[in-house]
Amino acid sequence: MGSVVISLDAELGWGFHDLDSPPSARVEAGRRGWVALLELCAEYDVPATWAVVGHLMLEGCDGRHADHPAPEGWFARERGEWADREDLRFCPDLVRAILDSDVDHEFASHSYSHVLFGRPETDRELAAAELERSLELAEEWNQTVDSFIYPRNDVGHRDVLAEYGVGAYRGRSPTHDGVRGLFDSTLRDRSMIVEPLVDEYGLVNVPASLFLFGFEGPARTVAESVWSDPMVVLARRGIDEAVAADGVFHMWLHPNNLTRGRDDERMRAILSYLDERRSETELTVETMADVARRTNTVDGIDGTASGIDSRATARQP
Ligand SMILES: [Zn+2]
Ligand SMILES: [Zn+2]
Repeated sequence: MGSVVISLDAELGWGFHDLDSPPSARVEAGRRGWVALLELCAEYDVPATWAVVGHLMLEGCDGRHADHPAPEGWFARERGEWADREDLRFCPDLVRAILDSDVDHEFASHSYSHVLFGRPETDRELAAAELERSLELAEEWNQTVDSFIYPRNDVGHRDVLAEYGVGAYRGRSPTHDGVRGLFDSTLRDRSMIVEPLVDEYGLVNVPASLFLFGFEGPARTVAESVWSDPMVVLARRGIDEAVAADGVFHMWLHPNNLTRGRDDERMRAILSYLDERRSETELTVETMADVARRTNTVDGIDGTASGIDSRATARQP
């Protein structure tokens, strides 16, 4: 019997602040999607790993962050276009709502200001500063950070995560996101179950299985009229695979992917199916930290276990 993990990249404006033209529907959906997901998780009692951009936990800032070793202009949008958009830059209220939820969500980190860790221009000093500031804020909020989700899944500076005591990260999915992933999964009948592995830094890589909003735009509209929502079909299949096999089915999304009612309905369909299968079987829902804990217990943390590998693997059916 496997388990299901849901991880969320909670970022509001920070997911887009470095883009020339941020997608306005997504930017404006950050708050509504966050609240909608909290409500759906509560309704179906499904815990998720909420990876929060640390800056959101501030009450305010000077828009400069002179002591942060980010490249010139990194915080420019805070001083320019978004100077009066505090709703995109801060949300202690929404972070509090995660912590106050009756559901046992995991509080995790999505960096401090959404720096891309895998880019060559992101040096060790900047990566360390992003971790350090996030951990300081977490501590002020009496939280620990056991899991880290890399902005845009751009994995890098894993040694820095280990140095700061983070235990797990979300690795890349072995299948492609979007239309190509759909093709891989349905037509080649490839398993979506992933196997958590301890990497050479002692971190547990909990690879993604499926990005729940990777199939959008006109393709979605056409497909939906034919097959119902293809992402719901895939997610249900992944859940069934977790019931049938060991390993993890790991779904992920951003709260801002819930731009309107039909996106909420997609999530409702997935979570209600998950809840149903969990009640009928031994299937469990875990957070990334849960997975990391039991992976370390099974593999040992002395670096000699057979499961140690830096590559994510998908188990073939
Ligand atoms: Zn700021
Ligand atoms: Zn992000």
